[in-house]
Amino acid sequence: MSSPTRSSRTAQKGQGQWALGYREPLNPNERMKKDSDGLDVRQRILDVYAHTGFDGIDPGDLRGRMRWMGLYTQRAQGIPGGKTAVLEPEELEDAYFMLRVRIDGGQLSADQLRVIAGISTEFGRGVADVTDRQNVQLHWIRIEDVPEIWRRLEAVGLSTTEACGDTPRVILGCPLAGVLDDEVLDATPAVAEVVEKYLGDREYSNLPRKFKSSISGCSHHCTNHEINDVAFVGVRNAAGEAGYDLWVGGGLSTNPRFAERIGVFVRPDQVADVWAGVCAVFRDYGYRRSRTHARIKFLMADWGPEKFRQVLQDEYLHEALPDGPAPERPATDQRDHVGVMKQVDGTNALGFALHTGRIGGELLATVADLAEQYGRGRIRTTADQKLVVLDVPDDAVEAAVAALAEHDLLVRPSVFRRQTMACTGIEFCKLAIVETKGHAKELTAELERRLPGFDTPVTINVNGCPNSCARFQTADIGFKGMMVAGEEGFQVHLGGHLGFESSIGRKLRGHKVAAADTADYVERVLRGYLEHRSEGETFAA
Ligand code: SF4
Repeated sequence: MSSPTRSSRTAQKGQGQWALGYREPLNPNERMKKDSDGLDVRQRILDVYAHTGFDGIDPGDLRGRMRWMGLYTQRAQGIPGGKTAVLEPEELEDAYFMLRVRIDGGQLSADQLRVIAGISTEFGRGVADVTDRQNVQLHWIRIEDVPEIWRRLEAVGLSTTEACGDTPRVILGCPLAGVLDDEVLDATPAVAEVVEKYLGDREYSNLPRKFKSSISGCSHHCTNHEINDVAFVGVRNAAGEAGYDLWVGGGLSTNPRFAERIGVFVRPDQVADVWAGVCAVFRDYGYRRSRTHARIKFLMADWGPEKFRQVLQDEYLHEALPDGPAPERPATDQRDHVGVMKQVDGTNALGFALHTGRIGGELLATVADLAEQYGRGRIRTTADQKLVVLDVPDDAVEAAVAALAEHDLLVRPSVFRRQTMACTGIEFCKLAIVETKGHAKELTAELERRLPGFDTPVTINVNGCPNSCARFQTADIGFKGMMVAGEEGFQVHLGGHLGFESSIGRKLRGHKVAAADTADYVERVLRGYLEHRSEGETFAA
C-alpha cells in the first residue's frame, strides 16, 4: 500500500475545503493556523515564553497554538457560571494552564506514572485527573515550568504534543490489550505505529478540527468506537484472520452523531496507512468555514460511508480494501474493565474506580508503588476515568484490593461510584457553566446512602456545559450544565447508550434540575424503574 496522498481535485467550492480550492482562511482559527503552524509554539515556549512569563505570550499563541502542546489557559477561580457567556476569554482566565499528558493506548509504567505524579505535586498543586480519553490532566501549571516538565516527561517517553488543538489527539486503546484471552487481537503495535509515524507530523497538524481516534481489539468495545472520529474495531474475517472494521464520523458535543461503518476489512499492517488516509481526507475535504460545523461527522453526514470509502481508496490509498464483517456483539454492555479480570498468563488485572477521575499527584505515586508491590509495575488508564493495575497473582488479589481500598480506590465499587463520570467543569474550564466533579462526588455518596444495594448498571454523566466532554448524550442519565432560574443546574437527557443498540439520550424539556436537587431527581427516576421493571429488564432497556 502506498502512503496516502491526494490525487485529484474538483472545481466545486463549498465549506472552505482545501481539496476544493479554498486556501484563504474563513474564520479566525483558520487564520491563526495559516499564520503559524500550531506546532511552532513549542520552540517559542522554550525560547521566549518560559522566560517572559504569562504576560509575554502572544495572544494567538495563548488562546490558540498552546493547545498543540497540550496547554489550555485555566479558568480564574471564583467566576460564577452565569458569567461564562458574558465575559471575554481574557477576563475568564488566570495566569495558569491546564496541561494534558497524552497516554496513547492508556499504557503506563510505574516509572512513567511517578513522573506524572511528581509533576503534579511539584508544579501543579497536587491536582491530577484521569480523563475519559485515557489522558492525565494537570492544573495550575506555570509557563515558566513547562520546559522542565517536558524534559521530565520526555525522559520517560511521554508527551503533551497534540494532546489538544486541531490535531490527531491521543489514540485510545483497550487498557487490557495483550493481556485478556477474549480479545480479538492486541492492537498495541498498531497504536504504537500510528503514534511513531504521525505524532507531530506537520502533514496532519492543521486539521479542520480535533480528530479523535481509537484502535482496539477489545471484545467489550471499551474504547467507544461509536463516538470517535475514526475507529478501528477488532474483527475476524471469513477466513478467520484478525483485523479491523473501520468506523468514521462519530462525535458528541452540540450535534451528536454516531460513527458509521465504512465496510472494509483492514489488516493490522495496514492500520497506520488507513488511519493516515482517513486523517488526510478530513484535512483536505473537512469543512473549514464554521468551527461548529467542522468535525469529520459533518462530512460523513453529507457524504455517507460509500462515498467516503470511494474517496479514501481512490484518492489516498490507491487501492481497494476488501469488504469486511461487522464487530460481534459483546457478551455484556459493561465496557469499563472495573473489577478483577483474569489475564491470559494466569495473573489478574484489577480495575478500580476513582471519584470521576480525580486522583491527585500523591495518590498517583501510591498507585505506582502498589502496581510494583502487587504486580509488575504496569498501570493502564481507561476511557471511563478509571485505572487498572495489571499482573497481580491470584494469592495477592485480595491484599491488593484491600490496599487500594485503603486509599478509596475501589475494585468493587457501588454502581454509582462505578458508573458516574464528570468533566472538568467550572473549577478549571473557561467554558463551564456549572461545577461538576465535586457535585458528582456528592451525588454518588447520596445515592449510595439512599439506594443501598442498587445493582443494575446505570450511567450518570455530569457535564459543565453543552460540549459533552463527559458524554451526557450517551449516559442513561445525562446532566448538561446550564443556569436554572438563576442558579447552577442541569438539563437532563435520558436514555443514552453505547453498544449494539446505541442511542442518543433524549432531552426532556421539562426536566431542568437545580444542582441541589439532582439526588432527588435521580432517586425518583431509579425508584420508578425499580417499581415498574419486569423480570431481567435493564435500566437501559
Ligand atoms: Fe469544559 Fe464543557 Fe468540556 Fe465540561 S463539557 S470540560 S465544562 S468544555
